[in-house]
Order: sequence, then C-alpha cells, then structure tokens
Amino acid sequence: MSNPSLLILPGDGIGPEVMSEVRKIIDWYGAKRGLAFDVTEDLVGGCAYDAHGTPLTDATMEKAQNVDAVLLGAVGGPKYDDLDFSVKPERGLLRLRKEMDLYANLRPAQCFDALADFSSLKADVVGGLDIMIIRELTSGVYFGEPRGIHKEGNERVGVNTQRYTESEIARVARSAFELARRRNNKVCSMEKANVMESGVLWRQVVTEVHAAEYSDVELSHMYADAGAMQLTRWPKQFDVIVTDNLFGDLLSDLAAMLTGSLGMLPSASLGAPMANGRPKALYEPVHGSAPDIAGQGKANPIACILSFAMALRYSFDQGDEATRLEKAVEKVLADGLRTADLMGPEGGAPVSTAQMGDAIVTALNASL
Ligand code: NAD
Repeated sequence: MSNPSLLILPGDGIGPEVMSEVRKIIDWYGAKRGLAFDVTEDLVGGCAYDAHGTPLTDATMEKAQNVDAVLLGAVGGPKYDDLDFSVKPERGLLRLRKEMDLYANLRPAQCFDALADFSSLKADVVGGLDIMIIRELTSGVYFGEPRGIHKEGNERVGVNTQRYTESEIARVARSAFELARRRNNKVCSMEKANVMESGVLWRQVVTEVHAAEYSDVELSHMYADAGAMQLTRWPKQFDVIVTDNLFGDLLSDLAAMLTGSLGMLPSASLGAPMANGRPKALYEPVHGSAPDIAGQGKANPIACILSFAMALRYSFDQGDEATRLEKAVEKVLADGLRTADLMGPEGGAPVSTAQMGDAIVTALNASL
C-alpha cells in the first residue's frame, strides 16, 4: 500500500519558518513510528505570485485535490498590499477552500495547563479546556444573494442575505456528530431560531439528522448570543459546538482567545469524503504571516505543529499519535519553554522557533 500523501504549502512570512519545524515532526514519525508520508511541497500566496504571477497555479490546485491532506503555513504580507484583489495572496487560500468545497471549519479551543494564567479568564475557568467549534464555511450570509449596496429614494441600503439549504445544514451537522463520537459525544447547535427563519430551519435539520443517524450523541440547542455568554462564563460545559458561518466566525474567535496566544491555535477545514473515505482536508494555523517578526526566528511553531496533529487524527486515523504529539507540546510548555509570544510580563529568555521544534522532537523521543 502506498504512503498517505501530504501537500505542504508553507506560504509567506513566518509560514516557511513554522513549517520547517513541522517537517522535523513529520520526519520523526517516518523514522520512529513507521508512519511515512509522501510529502510534496509547493507555493501559495505571495511567493506563488512572485514566481508565477498568480497566488495559486492550476497545477498546485490539482495537486491539492488529489492528496490525502493539505498543510498550509500562512499567506500575505505588506509587499503584496497594493496588488489587484484578484491576485492578492489571500485569494490563493480562498480558492483552495472553495474548489475543495471545505464546508466544515474546525477550530479547537484547548488550554494547556501551563498557559492557563495567560488567558483573560480565571485559570480555573480555562485550565484543561478542550472544546471544538465547527463553523459552516461555504454558505450563509457571506455568500447569500441578493447582496450589495443600492439606492432607495434618497438613501443607500446595504443588503446581505442569510441563506441555508437543508443539505448544507445536514452535512455540517453530520461532521459535528461524527467528531463528537470521537470526543465526549456531546454537540451543542447554536443559531437564532427565535428571530431568524434560517435559524428555525437549522434547528429542525440538525434535530432530524440527529434523530435519524446519531441518537447516541447528546444534542442540545442554544441561541448564539446565549452561547457567547456561556462560552465566557463556563466554557467547559461544551464539547462540540456547531454553528453557521457568521456566528461561527465570531464564536470561534471568542473561544480561541480563551486560551491565550495566536501562536498556539490550529485549525482544520474538512469537506466531503473522498473515494478512500477520508474527507477532503486543509490544515492550517489560525495566525497569519506575521510580517512584524518574519525572518527573526521568533515565531511560535506550535499552532502549525498542532495543525499537523489534527491531520494525524482526522485525515490519517492516527488519533493515538495525535495525542502523543499534543502531549509532547504539553510537556515542553510544562517544562517552561516559551517562544516570545508566550512570555508573561515577568519576562525571561524566550526560545527560538527552531529550539521549540527541537524540544518537541526531544519530548516525542522521550514518549517512546
Ligand atoms: P497575524 O496573525 O499575521 O499577526 C498578528 C500578531 O500576532 C502579530 O503581532 C504577530 O507577530 C503575532 N503572531 C502571529 N502568529 C504568530 C506566531 N506563530 N508566533 C508568534 N507571534 C505570532 O495577523 P496580521 O498581522 O493581521 O496579518 C499579517 C498578514 O497575514 C496579512 O497580510 C494578512 O492578510 C495575513 N493573514 C493571513 C492569514 C492566513 O494565511 N490564514 C490569516 C490572517 C492574516
């Protein structure tokens, strides 16, 4: 049987720096766990524009469609700010998400105990937190028609349309229930069924999918505004939260920040199952290309490394190895290693991007 395939797109700014550390981890799994990947690397974003005049070539798009998973660093930077919208670095990422039809965006909010003091909430509220927000990514108010700004009499009117079909709701609900079965078996669906018809339909369809296919999973419903309050009051009451594109945009940022630094946050975007049963998948850190620290060895590689852990779990059925990697990250943090973004006001000597990657490899070795 051939090895699972992985397309690596480091991108711009700190993207290549953090991805170098992920390559160390990938090599470790090949050497020490017999888990070899067929890795190809390509360009996306500003670097692709520099080389080819487009942020994503058709050839790279084709590769992305045919691998088991894509792992992306970050795109963008001030150098590209004045480019036409159609060739901006971010367009490369948007094209990947759109053409791979990645409709379920997974954003874990996980708080490592060693960083609990870093949160704006009390340590006992966030310590040990491990929840997952699933945001519908390809429909809803960001895409619905009609949209635009038009004139009505003497004034301008801005219009966007919240629109969801049954099948769009059902497929992201299935993603949430499937995921919950691999976690603590609880899904909370959030919408505004009290004031929006699309919310009424959302609640109906989630309830129907649950009754027909996933009655073993515990399901609850919450209005999204109440959800925001509950997330800050006692986030540990949740396991998996599923919600639409707009509410998911807000709630996933809110939940992510419960846990501290942008340099720690991974994400996955999943689509429909391929012929081999694996979902189409793109894994990437939540952060951008951080031009203010690029090229200085200061970037925290953990968000990108944890994105690879998500790939192990959700694309390659290697949940135990994903846990091994997460525990290795936990260990180096508990040992006190910090990149500059994780330094508290008390200061200290931060480690470099490469030192953090090396320490995680050492912790992996110690786990054997
Ligand atoms: P950013 O995430 O790049 O940086 C925000 C702040 O967080 C900066 O101070 C940065 O130094 C810090 N930071 C981010 N990641 C870090 C890490 N791993 N380690 C340590 N510190 C880290 O967001 P921005 O400054 O708004 O955007 C910069 C560029 O990135 C822009 O061109 C933007 O369009 C692009 N961007 C890309 C993505 C993506 O590729 N998915 C996402 C967001 C922004």
